[in-house]
Amino acid sequence: MEDKTLFEKIVDREIPAEIIYEDDLCLAFNDIAPQSPTHILIVPKKVIPRLAEANEDDKAVLGHLLFKAREIAENKGLSEEGKGFRVVINNGEHGGETVPHLHVHLLAGRPLLWPPG
Ligand code: AMP
Repeated sequence: MEDKTLFEKIVDREIPAEIIYEDDLCLAFNDIAPQSPTHILIVPKKVIPRLAEANEDDKAVLGHLLFKAREIAENKGLSEEGKGFRVVINNGEHGGETVPHLHVHLLAGRPLLWPPG
């Protein structure tokens, strides 16, 4: 059996994390090295290494991750006028991916620059 990914170990409670939300399909927790005052990772329980390797069967879970990002943002008051948030998926080396288990970053709490570095 292949080794578990870092995020599978968090899902299985083998590594601690500050968990924000959980359901059958995903887990959301605070990023250990936050890049903004709010920095949450939303991770599918099914291991999809990266967006480039998602397939037709993953459409529902991909939509779920995005919708949960929207709900978490609303629950944290980030959808209010004058605020805002950003969702990011890093893919591959040039995309800045460091953990090969698909995850959505939810970033907020300060004005975020564009374009990213
Ligand atoms: P990426 O670079 O898009 O693959 O994002 C991986 C993210 O996982 C980075 O923002 C890391 O700070 C974060 N990270 C790594 N280890 C942990 C951990 N043990 N708990 C929470 N977040 C982590």
